[in-house]
Amino acid sequence: MNVKLLDLQAQYLPLRNEIRRAIDQVCDEQSLILGPHVDRFERNLAEYCQTRHAIGVSSGTDALLCTLMAAGVGPGDEVICPSFTFFATAGSVARLGAKPVFADIDPRTFNLDPAKVEERITPRTKAIMPVHLFGQVARMEPINDVARRHKLAVIEDAAQAVGARRHGQRACSFGTAGCLSFYPTKNLGAFGDAGAICTDDDKLADTCRKLRVHGSGHTYYHEMIGGMFRLAAVQAAVLDVKLKYLEGWHEARRRNAALYDRLLAGSAVVTPSIEEGNWSIYNQYVVRIPGGKRDAVKQRLADRGIGSGIYYPLPLHLQPCFQYLGGKDGDVPETERTCREALALPVYPELPAEHVRYVATELLGSLDG
Ligand SMILES: *Cc1c(COP(=O)(O)O)cnc(C)c1O
Repeated sequence: MNVKLLDLQAQYLPLRNEIRRAIDQVCDEQSLILGPHVDRFERNLAEYCQTRHAIGVSSGTDALLCTLMAAGVGPGDEVICPSFTFFATAGSVARLGAKPVFADIDPRTFNLDPAKVEERITPRTKAIMPVHLFGQVARMEPINDVARRHKLAVIEDAAQAVGARRHGQRACSFGTAGCLSFYPTKNLGAFGDAGAICTDDDKLADTCRKLRVHGSGHTYYHEMIGGMFRLAAVQAAVLDVKLKYLEGWHEARRRNAALYDRLLAGSAVVTPSIEEGNWSIYNQYVVRIPGGKRDAVKQRLADRGIGSGIYYPLPLHLQPCFQYLGGKDGDVPETERTCREALALPVYPELPAEHVRYVATELLGSLDG
């Protein structure tokens, strides 16, 4: 059997005609950047995320960068974020001359540990960036509480969590703003790079809309120095078609995750733990393989035709480009341990139950071997 970690063709084929019609319309109209397709997608996305505003941008990375710029983050500022995340979280902080300050995660959920966040606060702290990793919302109540007491912005990196809920409330609606990625491997994937910023804050939304076109409200008049963060109309058209199917895809991922949970229960494999009140969209189904066996298990799965992924092999505080920050082994021990143990299994919506069973069986077998 051959089981890929993600099969994008399986999602595309049933929507082929509908998506091609939407793309054709953009081609016929030649309204290529921003414009009516982007406006419509922004309205539908804001409704979906339960925020007043959604601003389409060129990528998840640019969503983070643009939001940090709008929040006034710059040289001398510190932003607290996890070290166990995709590079963009801390990379966008550093690009603005600010300092990413890494706090450790809760090993059960892979998300920021709010108690560890509070320990990292200094007079220079300007914002907290929780990441809703693998599709599960971080513990936002204590994080927002710390932020309120210290008057900090909260920027949710919701790149992996579009539509994820916590006590019924959706990702991007907890903090000052939330940032989404539509990179093709995310639950809502574009046909290339795309992203969005969602917020209830009218002023922040207005600033982000200007920052995405070099800080201009009127063409060729620039109120501030921004970037070129615009969303392409063709991406918005594709995303607007796919948005209608997103809830069904989440449900299918959740079914696959629940089946893994049952099949792997009671074994040495540590299945993902979802906090009470959380509704994960399982952008990844990440287990822990303890005892130093993770890499061997990954290889054995590959030998049996099963794709798996390591998110993330090297934590951000140990990345070569961040050595100037002085990070060292032992700074965030739970993060470092997780980098040695985490393994993502195939969980995409179209994955048949019999493939889930095959993966689980082979995984358990590879632990004995
Ligand atoms: C994907 C991702 C991003 C960046 O998104 P791009 O669209 O690839 O720029 C940021 N943060 C996290 C946690 C991500 O998973």
